[in-house]
Amino acid sequence: MSPNIAKKQRFIGKTAIITGAGSGIGRATAIQLAREGANVALFDLVNERNFELEQKLNKLRKDCALALDVDTSDAERMEEAVRQTVERFGGLDIVFANAGINGAVGPIEELSLSDWEHTMSVNLTGTFLTLKYSIPHLKKKGKGSIIITSSINGNSRFASFGWSPYSTTKAGQVAFAKMAALELAKFKIRVNVICPGAISTNIDESTEFNEEVGSIVIPIEFPQGAQPLADGPGKPDNVAELVSFLASDESIHITGAQIVIDGAESLLS
Ligand code: NAD
Repeated sequence: MSPNIAKKQRFIGKTAIITGAGSGIGRATAIQLAREGANVALFDLVNERNFELEQKLNKLRKDCALALDVDTSDAERMEEAVRQTVERFGGLDIVFANAGINGAVGPIEELSLSDWEHTMSVNLTGTFLTLKYSIPHLKKKGKGSIIITSSINGNSRFASFGWSPYSTTKAGQVAFAKMAALELAKFKIRVNVICPGAISTNIDESTEFNEEVGSIVIPIEFPQGAQPLADGPGKPDNVAELVSFLASDESIHITGAQIVIDGAESLLS
């Protein structure tokens, strides 16, 4: 999606944090929310594409974007990045906890403790820290919307052989989102979790295959075309539209929901 003319302006005066904003689903969502009037804080580890996005969005609307070099699994950097966001934009309304990696893929006995911990720290601890440091600012506003990116893996799909660390984090994110939804409902802060199927992004760059993974694969025969609705993977923009809806007041009575966005992929799994 090119960052040009806005189609709706439902987020004027609102500020969103987007983690993993430099690529894929996070990038598409940052563009979508900015087009709809939001100020966007772009959190990412990979700076070149994140700062390039900041420039693009600031051309779209002056000073609407702030790119920050932050590892979501690092508590100090996260706390500081949230502080800088609020200082720059004057508050916080929307949080998209989206940064994630595929991480190590292999038979459990072949995975090292550091393989396991790395995936846990980015996908699960990163989500925890994103919420931990954002919640006080949402409470100050008296309402807010948090969206967490999980996956069909670990929730409705279990036949991704070797993906046990990734799938465990994605299942954990769903439990965490539902716990948070209940805890935060009385503060009018909504928390929803989305479960994409295959989406065309750069996520494969973060995969570390163990050479033994082939030894645990059970062959599964799919019908032709694994995602029947789109006849292939979804687009980041498809997910961005859903996040935008969940961020907006149009979903005001939706919290604790787990929404699958996979073009029917998991119904085949
Ligand atoms: P992507 O690789 O295109 O984008 C992810 C971004 O997160 C990258 O810019 C990366 O630099 C950033 N990131 C990674 N670790 C980080 C960290 N510790 N701190 C800050 N930023 C970090 O991938 P994507 O597909 O857009 O992934 C976004 C989310 O969607 C992930 O949580 C992923 O698990 C989930 N997801 C993706 C798919 C898919 O098929 N693409 C399917 C289901 C779920």
